[in-house]
Amino acid sequence: MAVTASPAPFTTEDFARRMACAAEQAENAGLTGILVAPGPDLLYLAGYAPVAITERLTMLVLQTGRDPAMILPSLERPDAEHAASAGTIALTEWSDGSDPYAAAAPLLDPAGSYAISDSAWALQLLGLQEALPGTRYVSMTSALPMLRAVKDDDELERLSAAGAAADATFQEILKVRFAGRKETEVAADLASLLMDHGHSQVDFTVVGSGPNGANPHHEAGDRTIQDGDMIVLDFGGLKDGYGSDTSRTIHVGEPTDEEREVHDIVRGAQQAGFEAVRPGVACQAIDRAARRVIADAGYGGQFIHRTGHGIGLTTHEPPYMVEGETHALEPGMCFSIEPGIYLSGRFGVRIEDIVTVTRDGGRRLNHTAREMQIVA
Ligand code: ZN
Ligand code: ZN
Ligand code: ZN
Repeated sequence: MAVTASPAPFTTEDFARRMACAAEQAENAGLTGILVAPGPDLLYLAGYAPVAITERLTMLVLQTGRDPAMILPSLERPDAEHAASAGTIALTEWSDGSDPYAAAAPLLDPAGSYAISDSAWALQLLGLQEALPGTRYVSMTSALPMLRAVKDDDELERLSAAGAAADATFQEILKVRFAGRKETEVAADLASLLMDHGHSQVDFTVVGSGPNGANPHHEAGDRTIQDGDMIVLDFGGLKDGYGSDTSRTIHVGEPTDEEREVHDIVRGAQQAGFEAVRPGVACQAIDRAARRVIADAGYGGQFIHRTGHGIGLTTHEPPYMVEGETHALEPGMCFSIEPGIYLSGRFGVRIEDIVTVTRDGGRRLNHTAREMQIVA
């Protein structure tokens, strides 16, 4: 149950590089700049995470040819001055009782077009539009979908460690009792194991037993697990700020031939998706490769979700492995490959690994056996 030491924190230089790169990406996209609200984008670009995300306007403004600037409530200044990027961002304060949008206006080009964080409050966007009627806004995800998609070596190290912690959790959950216990009890076991292995936050612990496994949105409920159940386990969270997310489908006691067959098909689909990973390939090609295996086996109608999603500071982010996503894979991208088959009212199977794109292929960040494991 070794919890390894935390990695070295990101430096002022890391954030300066990310901020400059983001401003350049905005310019290349034909935009004046980007407006970054508290949340994963601000954490990524400035290493700043306000303790409470509130209606009070806090916004980082990045545009080429200008130094990074941030508008923030004066009461947050002491906190912001402890951010890793402190000293490289010019801070503009506003106080309660004053107009934050009037204070922010000088930081923006009055005729500019900006990408704004998806998580910005509508209240704040409307305030900016009113204060600067000549400005235009687009969502960060539609303008710069790949802003955080390519991970550097330090981020990959964190994602690998989060994956290893999730793997250790899976190895240990195989030893607990399943038959006769409620799904929620096994979910609680998963959560405490993730924390034991260094996670600071658990985002989800899916335990879908028997017919509940056929509902991909099922988390965990009061159902008592029985001998003969297939069980979809899907769990993850954050370790040292970066995400884990893995799924395995296990069986209580001896499986039937049909259960084995469906499991084998999903495992083959997961492998086909993985083998399709290499730089230059469109995201949708990963979805197609996995989906073809399931469709060819006659279960195309029972694979009812996209094949994967990116992972980083959050457990769901671009790039998405989905039909219609033509963005090309690049080395350093990290995402899940998680095909499934869902037989309504009976059982489901999902197998998920996080994969990163290397210079000539893909590398898994999860390494537990994908073959069906039998539990008691
Ligand atoms: Zn069974
Ligand atoms: Zn998952
Ligand atoms: Zn996932």
